[in-house]
Formats: sequence, C-alpha cells, structure tokens
Amino acid sequence: MNNETRIRIAIQKSGRLSDASLKLISQAGIKLARSKDQLIAYGNNYPIDVLLTRDDDIPTLLNEGTCDIGIMGYNIYNEFKCSREADKNNTNIDSAMDLPFGECRLSFASPYDSEIKSLSDCRGTKIATSYPATVNSYLKKMDINATCIEFKGSVEIAPKLGTCNLICDLVSTGTTLKANGLEEFHTLLESSAQVYRHSNVSEAKAKIINNLLDRFRSVVRAIESKYVTLHAPIAKLDTIISLLPGSESPTIIPLNNSADKVAVHALCNEKVFWETLENLKKEGASSILVIPIEKILD
Ligand code: ATP
Ligand code: ZN
Repeated sequence: MNNETRIRIAIQKSGRLSDASLKLISQAGIKLARSKDQLIAYGNNYPIDVLLTRDDDIPTLLNEGTCDIGIMGYNIYNEFKCSREADKNNTNIDSAMDLPFGECRLSFASPYDSEIKSLSDCRGTKIATSYPATVNSYLKKMDINATCIEFKGSVEIAPKLGTCNLICDLVSTGTTLKANGLEEFHTLLESSAQVYRHSNVSEAKAKIINNLLDRFRSVVRAIESKYVTLHAPIAKLDTIISLLPGSESPTIIPLNNSADKVAVHALCNEKVFWETLENLKKEGASSILVIPIEKILD
C-alpha cells in the first residue's frame, strides 16, 4: 500500500454512535494514536486519520471532500440531502454500507390528549423538529400543508411550551416520548448508522477506501454470524439443518460410539435467536453450542 496517500474518516466525537464507530475501526485491525480531547487520531498501522466531530458536521465534511469517508446516521445524511435538494443543489456523498447500530426512526408524535393522531390531521399544524428539510420534503410529497419550526435539541418539550401542536423526532425505545406525555403515531423514516463516502476520490484513495470497506464488511459479518455445533439424530438431520439460520452446507461428522447420531457444525450467517435453539432442541438436537466468530474472510 502506498504510504504517501492517507484517507480521512469522520466519526462522531461523543454520542450514541461514537463507541460503536471506534470499535468498528479497531476491529478492522486499525490501531489509533489518540489522547483525550484530541480532534484527530492517527492510524499507526493503516493509512487513515480519524476526525472526531459533531455528527451534524459530517455531511459537510464529506460533501466538500475534507473527509473521504464518514460514519453517521441515515437521518443526518437524509436531512443534508433534502436541504440541498430544496436549494436545487446536488450532494457529493454516496452511501457505502449499512452498519448494525444506531437504529432509530423519525416519527410524528402528539400529546396524549391531542386530536392529531394521523398524518392527515397534521394539516395546518405547527411541527417542532430538528429535521425540517426531511419533514418539509415528506409533507410536500404527501400533500400536507403544515409549518415546521426548527429546534436544535429538546424537541419533546416544545408542545408543553405552546410553540407547536406536535413534534417530529427520532425515537428508538419511545421512553423519552412517553416521559414527556407524547404519543407516536406515524413514522416517516427508518434509520441506522451507515458508512458514507465522498463521491470523487483519487484512485489511490479509492484503493484504500475499498480495502477498508472490505474489512468493515467482514467485521460486521463476523458480528452477525455464529458458529453452531450440535448433535443431531440422523433421522431428523434434514429438519435440523433446515432450522439453522443462514447456513449453506454444514459439516456432518460421525460420533464415536453412536450409530444414530451425528455432529453438525455450521456457520450461521444470520442471527441465532433463543427460539431457534429451542426449536432445534424440540427436533432432538443436543449439546448445542453457539460460538462467536472473530474474523471471516471468504
Ligand atoms: P452531536 O453532539 O454529535 O451533534 P447528537 O446529540 O446530535 O450529537 P446523538 O444523540 O448522539 O447525537 O445521536 C447520534 C445518532 O444516533 C443520531 O443521529 C441517530 O442516527 C442515532 N440514534 C439512535 N437512536 C436515537 C435516539 N433515540 N435519539 C436520537 N438519535 C438516535
Ligand atoms: Zn448532532
């Protein structure tokens, strides 16, 4: 790899995506030199520098090419894109891969005693949101005339203050909404963290970015995959194999001193839930082990 070319990745400095983003970079085998409060961490063994920033600045950093790649919620990217579109501007940002963290949704919510309980009830209302471009673009598409009032934070207190009739905000568990007497009634966007990249990078940078993305994909796949081993009655082998989630061709191994049972070893590429294990047991599987995987390279 060419040592002169380095890429720059932007990640959230402190917040919901920070730990998972740093963990992903570390699990991709990258060692960072970073002291607390530093805005940039330097890759020791990989040509990458990590810019730690507010998530709201990541779209601009990527769009301008100040950073080559970045990790942010789809909600942040979409807000940037909608606001650029409203001003008839393009974006120079492409989505590169989905990440299994930062899941949330952007939903409309109104006070429990409010009569606004569906999208069509939103006509003529005032909506407090940190995502005005996204909400305005959605309302336009759905032919709903309403006014968005932008709040940078604490959107959920706006109805109590009388500033608005309802809110449109990010929700994951719904606890914050409930605590503020708000009821979610319509989702307009599902979001999770994603890796984004600047649209036009040099060939040398593209090479590094593609290698990094391959490592990220392998990390994510390893997190989501499990190695399952179990003992299965030969009579139930086909049923048991069909219950193993996302497994293509498991290895079947004879067992010592057992004529009617075999060992099954399988790489499961999908989540292995307790229900799956219980169903396997019901079909006669025993000695079931679910083993985490550190790395996968096909
Ligand atoms: P910053 O200081 O970087 O601007 P922030 O307060 O805007 O931080 P966080 O609250 O840390 O951002 O959220 C970062 C991202 O986490 C969101 O943009 C969103 O993609 C995701 N997320 C997941 N669940 C939630 C949630 N319940 N509320 C808000 N964001 C969530
Ligand atoms: Zn933010």
